[in-house]
Formats: sequence, C-alpha cells, structure tokens
Amino acid sequence: MEPAVGILNISSQAFVKVCVICNQMHGSFTQCFKCSTYYHAMCASKAGYRMELRCLEKNGKQITKMVSYCSYHWYDSTFQVY
Ligand SMILES: [Zn+2]
Ligand SMILES: [Zn+2]
Repeated sequence: MEPAVGILNISSQAFVKVCVICNQMHGSFTQCFKCSTYYHAMCASKAGYRMELRCLEKNGKQITKMVSYCSYHWYDSTFQVY
C-alpha cells in the first residue's frame, strides 16, 4: 500500500497560517479583531483594510491597542445596520 502522504499534507496544512490576501505563509501575521482571519499588516494596508487604535482598560490602566478587521468585518463595523 502507498503511504497516505496526501492525507498527512492536508492535516498539517490546517495548522499553518496563510495570509488571505497574498496567500503566503511566511512573515508575521495580524489577526482580525472579530474572527480568526490572518493576514500581513503590509498586505492589509495595501488592500485598504481598516486599522484603528482602540483604547481599552486593563487592570484600571488605559492601554492603546492597534486592531484591524478583515474585509468582511470592516463592513460589519462600518455599517451596523443589520
Ligand atoms: Zn500577505
Ligand atoms: Zn473578520
């Protein structure tokens, strides 16, 4: 019997982060604030993805965090009609 190489490849792919914009696996990723979509910060800015500074409170301290949204949640956060 042939070894199940194809199946092994598919299962290991599931753990690899891929940029949804350029489909590359290298580099560091930014995650959508609302879902588990990953992309490069550079690709996101080129694609016009929304990024914003958010003031959050943690342990009584104000912290500022850069958050970003995927194309789906960009619309979601801009047009809160539904
Ligand atoms: Zn990318
Ligand atoms: Zn999202």
